[in-house]
Amino acid sequence: MGLVTSEDLFPVSRLAAVQEATARSGLDALLLTPGPDLRYVTGYDAMPMERLTCLAVPASGEPFLMVPRLELPAAEHSPASRLGVEFVPWEETDDPYAQVGIRLGAVRKVGLADRMWAMQSLRLRDAMPGAEQTLAGGVLRELRMRKSPAEVAALREAGAAIDTVHAQVPNFLKAGRTEREVGKDIAEAIIAAGHATVDFTIVGSGPNGASPHHELSDRIIQPGEPVVVDIGGAMPSGYCSDSTRVYCIGEPPADYAAYYAVLQAAQQAACAHVRPGVTCESIDAAAREVIADAGYGDYFIHRTGHGIGLETHEEPYIVTGNTELMEPGFAFSVEPGIYLPGMHGARIEDIVVCGEAEGERVNLSARDIVII
Ligand code: ZN
Ligand code: ZN
Ligand code: ZN
Repeated sequence: MGLVTSEDLFPVSRLAAVQEATARSGLDALLLTPGPDLRYVTGYDAMPMERLTCLAVPASGEPFLMVPRLELPAAEHSPASRLGVEFVPWEETDDPYAQVGIRLGAVRKVGLADRMWAMQSLRLRDAMPGAEQTLAGGVLRELRMRKSPAEVAALREAGAAIDTVHAQVPNFLKAGRTEREVGKDIAEAIIAAGHATVDFTIVGSGPNGASPHHELSDRIIQPGEPVVVDIGGAMPSGYCSDSTRVYCIGEPPADYAAYYAVLQAAQQAACAHVRPGVTCESIDAAAREVIADAGYGDYFIHRTGHGIGLETHEEPYIVTGNTELMEPGFAFSVEPGIYLPGMHGARIEDIVVCGEAEGERVNLSARDIVII
């Protein structure tokens, strides 16, 4: 798992912190099925499936993990086994939802993992008809947004890994190849660089670069075209990488180089603005101002960034209207873009962690257009 140990990333003390936060928020229990919330609290990377695995964290009393009998060995081998939580195996003919309800007793309000399947939330509602359901995210966001030193180290590890993939992109990106062919090579390099999964490979050549979430197509890359490459995956630690760089097959068109310089200044201004106490929206504004002043405001069509951790997109969002104040440990992307429909586009993206005095980028590869 690299330099960061699972014990550091998922400390045993976290469960008690979650339980306290649950009590403070007025919820009677959190119910966490497989996904990033469960992994954050326990370190258990459980397989999402129709059979119920569910960690119940009551505001007071003993937490327990309801787990299908056949998943018990996996749960016992996971970091969750260090927590001293009772594992409650259920058999194929049992009703695990009813068992969760009986064990929790009278509850008025429960918080469900944000990514719980609807099938499971509805069955939990049937099992606990008196309990109002809300999202566990309201409780967990306060913890998950503030990355621990170990989590920051895991994000640095992910950043360094994706940087090495960007360094190889010039080997893959050639005129005459399709975006899909290039994307396949990049995906292999993402795994070879130490990621456990490939989450996305965006290769936007020429006009496709003007569509921010264009992934891959069979379009053949042409000489002289700029190509937006936005790639990321999850490391074995669970923590994600996400970085965008722009490449060009030969010299870029003159108008392109002009707005790329604006974009570079905007991305730099937003990164330089990061420090404790500033609002999330002011980081967005720092980038947007530079782009608008240069006359490209209408072509920056998305927010400046998103939080990142066990999910590629999580809180805090760097967007107008988000008045949340930066704190040390907040980790998020700074990825302004300029998109000229039908022509080309550009985006520069680094993951930034707010430190005690300023932001630290975990992506360090050069931010100039890479001429191939
Ligand atoms: Zn995105
Ligand atoms: Zn990205
Ligand atoms: Zn991103």
